[in-house]
Amino acid sequence: MSASDRPLRARVHLDAILHNYRFAKGFAPASRALAVVKANAYGHGSVAVARALASEADGFAVACLDEALELRDSGIQARILLLEGVFSPDEIVQVDRAGLTMVVHCREQLGWLLAARPERPLACWIKVDSGMHRVGFAPEAFAEIHAALSGCGHVGEVGAISHFARADELGHPYSERQIAAFDRALGGLPVMSSLANSAAVLSLSRAHRDWTRPGIMLYGISPFVDPHPSAGELRPAMTLESGIISVRTLQAGDPVGYGGRFVCDRPMRVGVAAIGYADGYPRHAPDGTPVLVDGRPTRLVGRVSMDMITLDLTGMDDVGLGAPVQLWGDRVPAAEVARLCGTIAYELFTGIGRRVPLVHE
Ligand code: PLP
Repeated sequence: MSASDRPLRARVHLDAILHNYRFAKGFAPASRALAVVKANAYGHGSVAVARALASEADGFAVACLDEALELRDSGIQARILLLEGVFSPDEIVQVDRAGLTMVVHCREQLGWLLAARPERPLACWIKVDSGMHRVGFAPEAFAEIHAALSGCGHVGEVGAISHFARADELGHPYSERQIAAFDRALGGLPVMSSLANSAAVLSLSRAHRDWTRPGIMLYGISPFVDPHPSAGELRPAMTLESGIISVRTLQAGDPVGYGGRFVCDRPMRVGVAAIGYADGYPRHAPDGTPVLVDGRPTRLVGRVSMDMITLDLTGMDDVGLGAPVQLWGDRVPAAEVARLCGTIAYELFTGIGRRVPLVHE
């Protein structure tokens, strides 16, 4: 619980996340699914999310050791994959103790692994650069890296993993090229493998393989740029809510907020809601960005401040102090707010500020 009575909170609907996880599993029934809970479960609270999924999830994926240890410390026993592996040889000691699965994406990491003296065999998934060109080994190097790890006495499981660059663009041929490059790398070796993010879970069954890695879809957001029938089946997992803390009547010609970006074109009622860019509401939100006040649709007017935003309450004479405001959630799609701000829902969710209490329900 927050000590402050500021009316801002992010309500996280754990039942929606469970529904979305099951939905992902339904699309790839022969695969196991690692729920991607990095970046504090995309801002939704990784411990609470992992606990809510614990009885069903085949495993979890995170970006770094701290994120994995937080889950282990909270009692999560399922497989946890470190998507970027370790950042130093010292981290391998903790990976070993906590029984984590590591990605190995470069020769430096390979060297650290081969030189390690773990107490138990390590589980390592080789990252193949199938076309993202960010991290990973070239497909041609896979056989050599695989041989080095398989021949190492303290490495147990050896897997293969890659990541799509354009799976969110339905039917884009680049995804096919990535699948072909991945298969070329594996060269028919019977290696446990993982390729599919949310978009590939929903649209590329050839990429499902042994383990899928759904992320954004767990949080109720369609991974696709364009409409897709599955989008309606996903349940938004976060409702970002605040309240009205001030209302005033302004005259035609009065500017609102920093820079006077918005100017009233007639007498207007303008309300202030307690949320700003320091809380993660995007500063680039334009005039007209949808919000819901007291269950009714209205719009943002004026620039987003650090702690406040201004809303058009004209014609909503009964709305006063304390009226509830939905910034995104079931009635205001986070993806639409993101689009208007020139970003993606991933960034909105992971940008939720520290002073926004997460309320899990
Ligand atoms: N796998 C990897 C390696 C990732 O980096 C991510 C997310 O960035 C995911 C899976 C999940 O992707 P999405 O959230 O689009 O499902």
